[in-house]
Amino acid sequence: MNLKEIELIKNNKPIVISGPCSAESEKQLLSTSIALAKSGKVDVIRAGVWKPRTRPNNFEGVGVKALEWLRKVKEETGLPVAVEVANFQHVFDALKYQIDILWIGARTSANPFSVQEIANALEGVDATVFVKNPVNPDIELWIGALERLSQAGVTKLAAIHRGFAKYGESRYRNEPQWQIPIELKRLYPNLPIICDPSHICGNRVCIPQVAQRALDLDFDGLMIESHIDPDNALSDKQQQLTPDALDKLIGSLVVRHKEVEDQVLSRKLESLRHEIDVIDDDMLLLLEARMKVADKIGQVKKDKGMTILQTTRWNEIIEKTMIKAEKMGLSRQFLTSFLKSVHQESINHQNIVMNKGKDSVQEPEKINSNE
Ligand code: PEP
Ligand code: MN
Repeated sequence: MNLKEIELIKNNKPIVISGPCSAESEKQLLSTSIALAKSGKVDVIRAGVWKPRTRPNNFEGVGVKALEWLRKVKEETGLPVAVEVANFQHVFDALKYQIDILWIGARTSANPFSVQEIANALEGVDATVFVKNPVNPDIELWIGALERLSQAGVTKLAAIHRGFAKYGESRYRNEPQWQIPIELKRLYPNLPIICDPSHICGNRVCIPQVAQRALDLDFDGLMIESHIDPDNALSDKQQQLTPDALDKLIGSLVVRHKEVEDQVLSRKLESLRHEIDVIDDDMLLLLEARMKVADKIGQVKKDKGMTILQTTRWNEIIEKTMIKAEKMGLSRQFLTSFLKSVHQESINHQNIVMNKGKDSVQEPEKINSNE
């Protein structure tokens, strides 16, 4: 990806994007934006103009006329503005009204046809585009959306982490699954990543904690929804802050340094990191040894005509390990997902042993891949 620096995203200060989920009226948008600008803590005003709603018959945004209101917002506050675009026409209208930043929403970035349509509309335009993660936890799809824009010549790109759809009970509206944006950062160190705690939380209470977590993970900024009267908002009312609450929140966040300047501390950190590297190497060797045992078990099962998956044995492992783990201060959630991956890898190994010589055998890493 050919990435150029985005002027608004500075190295030492996280960018703050705020504004209503939806532009509802000129008065609501202007009063919210002016109050946000007054705080001096907001760098960009956001507003949804075309709203993708999960169910029909909800407020779907006011459309083009809000772009005129955003022009006034720019005039009154001097701040750049950002809107969500989902198709060719949205891009065309947003550019016509000189919207400074376009963002692609989570539902749109999950659809390569729509992303390609947007990318085509942006060919030859020096636009700044932020891409939210797709609703489903698929890093390839997220990268694919960024690549489509990059291939159309967009160089001022950033990613927005807004959490991933969940199934069942959770304290989040969208699960953060931090490992996914962290992996994106590892793959594209020059791609800025902004966190959207409003859509991760779905409520006001958890926003500060998620915002601080993002900064601690060295994210480049935050997008947080705010509304002059959140309780009466036409969309996402539970996750919008008043401009005053946003001001307080931003003021309370701690921005930590990437590197330590103190020599002694820096050496201490280096030695602790070395300790981690050694432990990681040991862990790899242990996993290798475990898989070799799995191969042997696979052979025994093959010889005796047994199935690979034996649920009772697997439950025993989980129960036994959980009891030990809790005493060691390891969380149940972490250990369950860790053991599940290890178990899956053992099954893949046994599968290979059992089916050796048959044409239908797939490599373990190919089993879960999406094309
Ligand atoms: C939004 O930012 O208001 C929005 C619709 O977000 P997402 O695409 O993350 O659901
Ligand atoms: Mn919203």
